[in-house]
Amino acid sequence: MPSNERAAYNPWQTALKVYDEAAEIMNLDKDVWQRARMPERELTMNFPVRMRDGHIKIFTGHRVQHSTARGPAKGGIRYHPEVTLDEIRALASWMTWKCAVVGIPFGGSKGGVQCNPKELNINELESLTRRYATELVAFIGPDRDIPAPDVYTTPQVMAWIMDTYSMAKGHTITGVVTGKPLSIGGSQGRNEATGRGCVFVIDEAAKNLNMKLAGARAVVQGFGNAGSIAARLLAAEHGAKVIAVNDSTSGVFNAGGLDMSTLLQHKEKTGSLKGFSGGDSIRNDEMLGLDCEILIPAALENSITAENAGRVKARIIAEAANGPTTPEADRILYNNGVFLLPDILANAGGVTVSYFEWVQDNYSFFWKEKDVNANLKDIMVKSFSEVLETSQKYNVDMRRGAFVLAVNRVAEAIRVRGIFP
Ligand code: NAD
Repeated sequence: MPSNERAAYNPWQTALKVYDEAAEIMNLDKDVWQRARMPERELTMNFPVRMRDGHIKIFTGHRVQHSTARGPAKGGIRYHPEVTLDEIRALASWMTWKCAVVGIPFGGSKGGVQCNPKELNINELESLTRRYATELVAFIGPDRDIPAPDVYTTPQVMAWIMDTYSMAKGHTITGVVTGKPLSIGGSQGRNEATGRGCVFVIDEAAKNLNMKLAGARAVVQGFGNAGSIAARLLAAEHGAKVIAVNDSTSGVFNAGGLDMSTLLQHKEKTGSLKGFSGGDSIRNDEMLGLDCEILIPAALENSITAENAGRVKARIIAEAANGPTTPEADRILYNNGVFLLPDILANAGGVTVSYFEWVQDNYSFFWKEKDVNANLKDIMVKSFSEVLETSQKYNVDMRRGAFVLAVNRVAEAIRVRGIFP
């Protein structure tokens, strides 16, 4: 969706609307309802970075801690020109519900800096990251709030944050961020975790619908970390045919299935999908209406809206992205019989393996990749069945089911903790 259209939707209003609906469905106690609704803490900073030509540029960054009721806050950091405080609030609240859905002992947070990382050179990116991390030192920590990568942030960015925090504290503290390089306490399998977790729940949904993944056609919007890995695993491990993918620059379509390894090599070599010769070009607005069995929105918020939801032909939508569907679109998809795996379930593999990374850092004992993946599978499969059961019990869609399950867990923690002082 073009940025001016995206701006017309406010993700925080979407997040509140779905939360309020879940609270209503489960008849949530009014006091707990209020306490779990708004973020606990919000920090906004405007900070200077010296650019390559010597001039100073001021950047705006945020960190929002939505909830610490079930444990330290946990959530990624996004670098994007359109970052807003409301977007970060929404993403922080979704982290709270996501950690509760998969039953890991974290609350929810999120951070972002309004910047265009594609225009920054490596020194500017490092300076921006280190200054932002310095602003966050009093706010984050392995027992308080643990950042991770999100859109346009990488393991290298996490390494700079870990180093900046450690220098400020006077000793090395690996557990302050997850999604780090392996050489400084990262976890095997973390880079693939979001896409892998997404494919585990797609597999469960397909079994539930008596649908075969072998030969199923998949469309992936947003060929970044989450989307490209989900696409690769669907094809390589399940024999699905990925017929279309796109990124912010262009899209590519091949009815016979795109060759994933040459596509990934092309993206790695050139940095985008532009110029890939193994398919025809396709526009972003054509992607959602393609004839397919599986649709994976893996870019940004609000790509499936009331205007385009009616055109979706997929049987399963798996939200690798956070907040890709508006509440109005949800209703249309549900009425049209589309089985939607909501973001707080479908992309929870990332935070689940981040949790494993944090546990490994705390123990200073590191697991094999096969153990990481097996533990991830257990959690994703169990969470899928709990969400399905809750949605059937309350006779609601999978998103409301996931929210009711999550809000219940957070509400229970708030209730037993009471109010201090
Ligand atoms: P990324 O930066 O690796 O990839 C984002 C991709 O989306 C890029 O390929 C970019 O070109 C593409 N894109 C941007 N705007 C687009 C548009 N308008 N149309 C089509 N493609 C577009 O980011 P990521 O980490 O893969 O994150 C993608 C989504 O997944 C985000 O919503 C993020 O919050 C969510 N997510 C990521 C993780 C994780 O571990 N990386 C975990 C949970 C959720």
